[in-house]
Parts: sequence; structure tokens; C-alpha cells
Amino acid sequence: MDQAMPVVALSNAAQEIWDCLVIGGGIAGSLAARQISRLGLKTLLVEKQEFPRAKVCGSCLNQRAIDELQHVGLGSMLGELGGRPTHRLLYTGFGRRIECDVPAGLALTRSVLDEALLEQARASGVEVIHEVVAQVLPTSPDASTREVRLAPTGTHPDALNDIRIRTRSVIAADGLGHPSLRKLPEFTESIKESSKVGLGAIITQSSWEAEVGDGDIHMYASRHGYAGIVRAEKDKIALAAAVNPGWMKDCGRPVDAFNQLLQEAGSQLEVERAASWRGTQKLSRSINEVANQRIFVVGDAAGYVEPFTGEGMAWAIAGGIAIADCVQLLAEGQEQLAVNRWKQDWLNRVRSRQFWCRVLSWTLRHPSRARLGTKLMSTHPLIATTIAKQLGAATH
Ligand SMILES: Cc1cc2nc3c(=O)[nH]c(=O)nc-3n(C[C@H](O)[C@H](O)[C@H](O)COP(=O)(O)OP(=O)(O)OC[C@H]3O[C@@H](n4cnc5c(N)ncnc54)[C@H](O)[C@@H]3O)c2cc1C
Repeated sequence: MDQAMPVVALSNAAQEIWDCLVIGGGIAGSLAARQISRLGLKTLLVEKQEFPRAKVCGSCLNQRAIDELQHVGLGSMLGELGGRPTHRLLYTGFGRRIECDVPAGLALTRSVLDEALLEQARASGVEVIHEVVAQVLPTSPDASTREVRLAPTGTHPDALNDIRIRTRSVIAADGLGHPSLRKLPEFTESIKESSKVGLGAIITQSSWEAEVGDGDIHMYASRHGYAGIVRAEKDKIALAAAVNPGWMKDCGRPVDAFNQLLQEAGSQLEVERAASWRGTQKLSRSINEVANQRIFVVGDAAGYVEPFTGEGMAWAIAGGIAIADCVQLLAEGQEQLAVNRWKQDWLNRVRSRQFWCRVLSWTLRHPSRARLGTKLMSTHPLIATTIAKQLGAATH
């Protein structure tokens, strides 16, 4: 499909009152839109970028994420897209090397995965508009709808015209920092001062690719952050890291920071300079509300813990699937119940599962704790295996 030609024209979208407007076509947004549309609700998804688009991510889907997708009939898609099975973690850092088995996962780059999930949403009846930036307006035209401004980006065919959309519910699945809710004081967030920033790239060739075994997730840690390398579909290798922002600035380019981190961790690998890198804002942040007045926040938009273990997609998937029931409750006129239900579901399905990531990122934040943690895991391998199982294992 030609992504530049929206299925529904902007001006036509403005004529309707939608049951649900989903902001963001990442994992959380596409899944939420698909599940909501399958309930028979008229759903519009808006995304500011053209697809396929790159996203800073280690590309590792853990067993829990795969299990959630299987549960909604999307499991076979992962194999068809060429997702590469992963089963072992190799950690190098603070003078030690630890190997442990992890629950079976898959490595698949985000440009491929996210485009396929968005296509699944479309196939379920979701209307999709690319290259528009959404902003939820603070005032509502009436008690039963919200108003959202859509500003086409410079490359959109209707680039000159902003429009306003009316919708009975809004899903903010717009990623880190929930930019579409900036005008709404009830969704303020706090960003951890000591937070790391993310960086990543996908490469297709390297002189050292034979060092990265099929099925292995390589992780490296130093006092400045941690990095991951994994083989994904076809000949792709995913590189990602979370590093201290001040240190990264001193290193110069992202590739230099990545290589220096690997070197400090004790690895001989060196990434070629040609790779195209992307970065993120500070990662660790929390939001004070995940639902309020017909707005539901899912995925990274609802707050973030540093992604040491590749749990982020599992949280986004769990949230994207669970939110559909809340939107249905709202469509049935039970607004307060819907809001309370999402607050509870988010606590149970996402927040409670972030425990081990919080422990790990707390440990890694301070070099002496990180050194001690690494030593403990290398002398007591059962600790490493138990944590790896807790983090990735399926729930159904
Ligand atoms: C360095 C790093 C490594 C990681 N590695 C892994 C890993 O290996 N495994 C794992 O499971 N997780 C990993 N994660 C976490 C994972 O990438 C995220 O948790 C996941 O992408 C969350 O998906 P999402 O749908 O919530 O947000 P996103 O994927 O960020 O999607 C949000 C979408 O919203 C769009 N958007 C934003 N604002 C607007 C707007 N105003 N209007 C319209 N559209 C908008 C964006 O263009 C984007 O497409 C990693 C993260 C980082 C930073």
C-alpha cells in the first residue's frame, strides 16, 4: 500500500465522530487499534511518521511478548516475518562473563514488526492516517467526546490544513514522553535525573558478525551504561544501548560511545562508523495518571523503566491488548468504570511486571553495585538464570 495516500482523507476524518482515536502506530497503538476495531468500534489511528520507520530498540521479543501475540492470533506472523529465535544471554562486564539460558524469544527489527502490526490493524478495519502530529485539546466540545488537533507534517499531501477530530475515546500510544498530551496538566510526568538515554542502529554487514552467534543475545555493561547486540531477521544485526547522557556527549558520535562502551566492558568488537544511528530522550520516567476523562495512556507513553532485558515490547503488547476492554466499557456508557479498570489493569499487567527491571537498573546505576551484582551472578549462576526466567517467561 502507498503510505503517502491515506485511506481516509483528513477532511473526511473530520466529518465523523469516532469511537476511538489511537495516537501512535507503534506496537502499543497498532495492537490497541486492532483489538478495539475487532469489537465493532469505529477506530482511527494517526501516526506522525511514514512507515516503515526505524525505532531505537534492541529488537528482542521475549517469550511473554510472543505469548501475548499468540493469544490474539498473531503468533504465526512473527515466524513469517523471519524473526530469529533467541535462547541464550551472554553478558560481558566488570571483568566477568556470564552465560545463561533465557526463555525462548525472537529477534525482529522494529521497522518490519511495526509495519506488520499496523497492517494487521488495517486488515481489522482500522482507518490509518500517516504523517500527522496529534495534540489532544484541553477542552471538550461536550461531555461525551474529546477533541484532537491533527497537524499534517510537511510531507503530507494536505500539509497546509490542520483539522480537528471528535472522538468518544483517545488512546495515547505515542511513546516516550506522551507528546500528544502536553497541553493536559493531569498527565504530567517526572523524569529521573540520573536516567540514561537510548541509542541504536541496524547494520547488515560487519567484519565481526561471525562473533555474534545465532540465537545469542550479547549484553555488555560498563560504568557508563549497557549495550546489546543480536542477530535479527535476514542479515540484520540490531545494536542498542542505554548510556549516561553526559558521557555520551563527551564521546562525540553515538557509534563512538557504543564502541567505547564495548571496549570498557572487555569486548574486542568494534562497530563500523557508517551505520546510521538514532537516539532518544531520557528514558526513565513516570506519569501521574494513565486514564482520565476518556483518555487512556498505553505503552512507553505511560512511563518507562530502562530496558535492560528487552521487556519494553512485552509491556506495550500487554497494554495494547488489555486496553480494548476498557474502551468497550466506555462505549457502553460506563466511563468511570472504564477509567478505573485501566488504572487497575495497568498496575497488574504492566507496572507489577517492571519489578525486576527496576532492580536491575538500580543495580547498574552505580558502578560499585553493578560490579557486586555481576560478581554475585557469575559466582552463583542460579541467580542469573532465575532473574532471566522471571523477566522473560510466558504468562498464559
Ligand atoms: C535502547 C533501547 C533498547 C530497547 N530494546 C528493547 C528490546 O530489545 N526488547 C524490547 O521488548 N523492548 C526494547 N526497548 C523498549 C521498546 O522499544 C519500547 O518499549 C516500545 O517501542 C514501546 O512501544 P510503543 O508502541 O509504546 O511506543 P513507540 O514504539 O515509541 O511508538 C510510538 C509511535 O507514536 C508516534 N507518535 C509520537 N508522537 C505522535 C503524535 N503526536 N502524533 C502521532 N504519532 C505520534 C511515533 O512516531 C511512534 O511511531 C528498548 C528501548 C530502548 C530505548
